Amino acid sequence: MEDKLTLENFFKEGDKNFNEADKQVIEKAFDFAKKAHEGQKRASGEPYFIHAYSTSLTIMKWGLDADTIAAGLLHDVAEDTPVGIDKIKKEFSENIGFLVDGVTKLGKIKYRGKENQVENLRKMFLAMAEDIRVVLIKLADRIHNMQTLQYLPPSKQLRIARETLEIYAPLGYRLGMGELKGILEDMCFPYIYPEEYKKLMSQIGNKFAETTHYLEKVKPILLEELAHENIIPISIHSRTKHVYSLWKKLKTKEIGDNINRVYDLAAMRIVLNSVEECYHALGIIHKMWKPLPGKIKDYIAVPKPNGYQSIHTTVFATDGKIIEIQIRTAKMHEEAENGIAAHWAYSEQGKPESGGMANLKKFSWVKQLKDWQSNVSGSDEFMKSLKIDTFKHRIFVFTPKGDVIDLPEGATPIDFAYAVHTDIGNHCMGTKVNEKMVALDKPLANWDVVEIITTKSKKPSEGWLSFAKTSQAKSKIRVALGIGKKDHLH
Ligand code: MN
Repeated sequence: MEDKLTLENFFKEGDKNFNEADKQVIEKAFDFAKKAHEGQKRASGEPYFIHAYSTSLTIMKWGLDADTIAAGLLHDVAEDTPVGIDKIKKEFSENIGFLVDGVTKLGKIKYRGKENQVENLRKMFLAMAEDIRVVLIKLADRIHNMQTLQYLPPSKQLRIARETLEIYAPLGYRLGMGELKGILEDMCFPYIYPEEYKKLMSQIGNKFAETTHYLEKVKPILLEELAHENIIPISIHSRTKHVYSLWKKLKTKEIGDNINRVYDLAAMRIVLNSVEECYHALGIIHKMWKPLPGKIKDYIAVPKPNGYQSIHTTVFATDGKIIEIQIRTAKMHEEAENGIAAHWAYSEQGKPESGGMANLKKFSWVKQLKDWQSNVSGSDEFMKSLKIDTFKHRIFVFTPKGDVIDLPEGATPIDFAYAVHTDIGNHCMGTKVNEKMVALDKPLANWDVVEIITTKSKKPSEGWLSFAKTSQAKSKIRVALGIGKKDHLH
C-alpha cells in the first residue's frame, strides 16, 4: 500500500510557508513521531501515526507556530510509546517538551458526567492560562478522535461524545472558534441524541439544498448592485447552518419547531476589504431588499462576548423570499472561524505591534485565572466563580477613553473599578455611568461608559462584597480588608 502520510503531503495539505529553521523542527518531529508510533494501530485498523498527522495538520491550518505543529505531531508519543518527556525535551526543546507534557496531562482528565465537569474545565483553563497552545492541541486532537469515533465500542462513544459536547465545544466557543464549536457539536449530535438527529434530518430534507440554490440565484443580482458602487467582495459564499445549532433553535419558543421560520438555514456571507465597505454594502442591500425589522445585528460596532464580529441582516429578497446576509471583513472572517488561533497566528507573523499572548487582552478572563488561583479562598468558591464568570453571558462596557472592559452580566461599577486597576477599586468613591452619577451597586449594562471617581482617603468597605460580582473584585476587596486569608486554595 502506498504511504500517504509523507512529509511532502503534510506540507502540501497544510499549505503554509515556513522558514528553514521552522521546517527543520517540523520535519524532525514528523520523522520522530512516525518512528515512535511504528507498528501501532488505531481502532480503525489504520496506522496510529495518522492521528498525529491529522491533529497536527489541523494545527497548521489554524496558522499556529512550528513548535505547536511539532508538539501536535508528538502529542501522543509520551503517552503511548516508551519515549518519555525528558527525551522529547532533549531531542527538541524545553518549549516543545512543555507543550507535549501539557497535552499528556490534560489527556488524563476523564469526563464522568456533569458532576465533575467543572473540575475538568478548571484544569483546562489552568492549562490555558499556562499556555493556550496546549489547549489548542487538545482541541485539534479531539476533532480527529471524533472523526474516528465510529470505530470505538458504544459505551466509549457516548462518554467521549458527551465530554466533547459539554467541555470542548463550549471551550471552543469561548475561544471564539465558532467553526470548531459547530463541527464538534454536529459530530456529537447523532451519538447523544440519535432519535432527535434522525427526526431533524428528515425535517431538513431538501431545505438546505433549496436555500443554497436560491442564494446562488440571487448572488449575481447582489454582486451587480455592489459593483455599481465600486464594491468588489473578496469572497461571497453561502454557508449552511450547523445542524446541532439548528436543532437548538427549533426548540426555542420563538421558532416553535417550525423549520420554515428559521431564516438562516443557509446564509449569504460577504467578505469585504474594510469596515467602511461593510456599512456601505449594508446600505446598498437595504435599498434593494427591505430588511425585517429587529433583525439587523451590528456585531462590528458591538462584538459578541467571545469577540465575534460581523453585520447580520435578514431581508425580503427577490420574490419576497426571506434570507440572512452576513457582512464582514477578511480579518473578521478569519477570526470568526478560528478565533483565538487566528489571533495567535496574526501575532506570530508580527502583524500587530505587540507579539504573542498580548493579543489575549480581549480574553481578559484568561488572564484573571492565575490571580484567582492564588487569591480566591476555598476551592469550592473558585470553581463556582469559574462556572459563573466563564459561562454566563458577558457584557462590554467602556472606559471614558473608549477601552473595552469585559465583565459578567450583572457586574457593578465596583467590578469595573477593580477590572481597570486594583488602586482604582481600592480608592473608589463614586461613579458616573453615561455621564450621570449612579450608586456603586447599580448593575452595568452593555455599552455603558463608566467613569470611576477616586479619592486617596477612600477605603473598601465590607458592604461592597454584597454587590461585587466578579471573583476578581471580591478577592481584592477581601485582601484590602484583611479577611479570608485563612483558607487559601492549595
Ligand atoms: Mn491524541
